[in-house]
Amino acid sequence: MSLTLRRLIGIYTIFRYFGYSYCGRCWHTWPTVESHSTEWKPGHGCFPLCEQCWQELTPETRLPYYESLYNQWLKDLPSNTPPFEDIKAAVLAEGGESK
Ligand SMILES: [Zn+2]
Repeated sequence: MSLTLRRLIGIYTIFRYFGYSYCGRCWHTWPTVESHSTEWKPGHGCFPLCEQCWQELTPETRLPYYESLYNQWLKDLPSNTPPFEDIKAAVLAEGGESK
């Protein structure tokens, strides 16, 4: 299925599951798709992408999605935001194999 078609369905899920977060690439909300959690510190994960999108990208091409989630964190919890370097290192350390 093309990314465009997946996004159309993703938009539908955003309305269907209003208020839920969603994959930054295919826009499917978390009740409808499995998220891929990247642990950047023991016990601390973030998941800007679903498992499928994560698999389709490389560490370098995944990074912008983590950066955009990070920028959202800066807006939502500016006093409690870890350095982006920590997250970047974790993203680049993950290869193609899912945990
Ligand atoms: Zn996705």
